[in-house]
Amino acid sequence: MVDKISKAARRKTMQAIRSKYTKIENVLVKRLWSRGFRFRRNVNDLYGKPDIAIKKYKFIIFVDSCFWHGCPHHCRLPHSNRKYWGTKIKRNKMRDAEVNIWYKSNGWRALRFWEHDINENIAKCVRKIEKNIKQKPPK
Ligand SMILES: [Zn+2]
Repeated sequence: MVDKISKAARRKTMQAIRSKYTKIENVLVKRLWSRGFRFRRNVNDLYGKPDIAIKKYKFIIFVDSCFWHGCPHHCRLPHSNRKYWGTKIKRNKMRDAEVNIWYKSNGWRALRFWEHDINENIAKCVRKIEKNIKQKPPK
């Protein structure tokens, strides 16, 4: 099949997806910060590079982009190069599962939110985070 969308147009679409996601992640971070939580962001030295981490509590949060992590409700593959995107997103999902298992088996608490969870009900997400942080840190 002929790729009808130019590379530039595709890049523009991808950037739009990314910037929408970044905005939502920032909203959550601001909300948590204003409620007194102190944490690090985009933590490169932790497995899977969590979006938010409080190391002393062994607590991390991932905010998963509906597109990149294959949300069952919102992930729409671009019309061009479907196979490429499909494989890529499938690989991301497999990696997410591996990361979850790793943290669980190493005594961390890992929360994962969809981009749409935060978009639709940020208060609920924050409550979930607070509830988890208030639990005693694992030894
Ligand atoms: Zn979604």
